[in-house]
Amino acid sequence: MSSSQPLVRFKGVQKTYDGLSLVVRSLDLDIRRGEFLSLLGPSGSGKTTCLMMLAGFESPTAGEILLDGAPITRTPPHRRNFGMVFQNYALFPHMTVSDNVAYPLTVRKVPKADIASRVEKALGMVQLVGKGDRYPSQLSGGQQQRVALARALVFEPQLVLMDEPLGALDKQLREHMQIELKELHRQLGVTFVYVTHDQGEALTMSDRVAVFNDGEIQQIDAVEELYERPANRFVAGFVGDNTVLAGTAGAAEGRLCELVLPTGERLAGINVNGADPGQAVVASVRPERIEALLQPPAEGSELSSNVVQAAISDVIYFGDHLRLRCAIAGQAQATVKVPLGSAMAPHAGQSVWLRFPSEFLRIYL
Ligand code: ADP
Ligand code: MG
Repeated sequence: MSSSQPLVRFKGVQKTYDGLSLVVRSLDLDIRRGEFLSLLGPSGSGKTTCLMMLAGFESPTAGEILLDGAPITRTPPHRRNFGMVFQNYALFPHMTVSDNVAYPLTVRKVPKADIASRVEKALGMVQLVGKGDRYPSQLSGGQQQRVALARALVFEPQLVLMDEPLGALDKQLREHMQIELKELHRQLGVTFVYVTHDQGEALTMSDRVAVFNDGEIQQIDAVEELYERPANRFVAGFVGDNTVLAGTAGAAEGRLCELVLPTGERLAGINVNGADPGQAVVASVRPERIEALLQPPAEGSELSSNVVQAAISDVIYFGDHLRLRCAIAGQAQATVKVPLGSAMAPHAGQSVWLRFPSEFLRIYL
């Protein structure tokens, strides 16, 4: 088997539960060996269904799933040999932590002599050494989820599937576990497929993210690419914060065009992205890319192009930055992030001049 061959390939996979509506439309997806891939999307977008088809608990209505190039579409779950952690994939309450973790080895008839050392090693991976004799009820939620993770890793599967495994934990513990999971992935080199509706979680941990909406992958890319170059309006809106300006596309010159705002103001030098002149479009930009000036920029200066006057309607303190809510004529509220420590001390009611650097504006139809 060549190492460039994907570990898993979805080929034209479709799924309907009721015979009427497709909840997975026609999915082509390659999962690379050793990657941390997240399936990210809103509730109901088909993420869990895809994971369940990969695990073997659901079968595709059409299409094929390949593992190392061989079809597994009809292989039962236990013969696929994947590790699994789900939000409510409960531990056995009457078994100790060690016995819970040993379970996959016991059912695989691993010799007793090997089990203890492998369980110890798995507990070490999730930092639960010394907790083997406890019962699940004696552990915190985060510890229980780590036991579930140890149980998924103990038989050294080549693929670990996780569906919102941190969903029940509080924010602080969730963020801590995200870092631990990422570190564990790096150490083990195993392939992780991780379902979440939380874009921050997906960006923190993943090598690549597949963004789902309505049973289809909208974009699959490395996290930085996804954030900096969202493929469409949905991805731009779902991944990260955005300020969105509505307007019409001006005439294109080469690959660049203007965005004409309802006030007649023009933002120039924006990648046209297929827009026809006169077409109603939106341009979106990350709030940290907008520059806020409390004085009008000098006419003709370098800073005076692509500037729109606005009024600050709210200033929100975020600890490491300020977030300005700004009213621009004819637009929904625009959000601007200002780093703390910058000289400006904005307050609500003030006028503000917002500069939109053309290279960070993206036009969507
Ligand atoms: P996600 O994990 O992205 O929230 P799901 O894959 O769970 O999405 O669900 C996708 C769609 O399929 C939803 O409309 C959901 O209601 C439907 N669905 C999921 N599981 C079943 C099922 N077992 N029977 C019928 N419909 C289902
Ligand atoms: Mg789900």
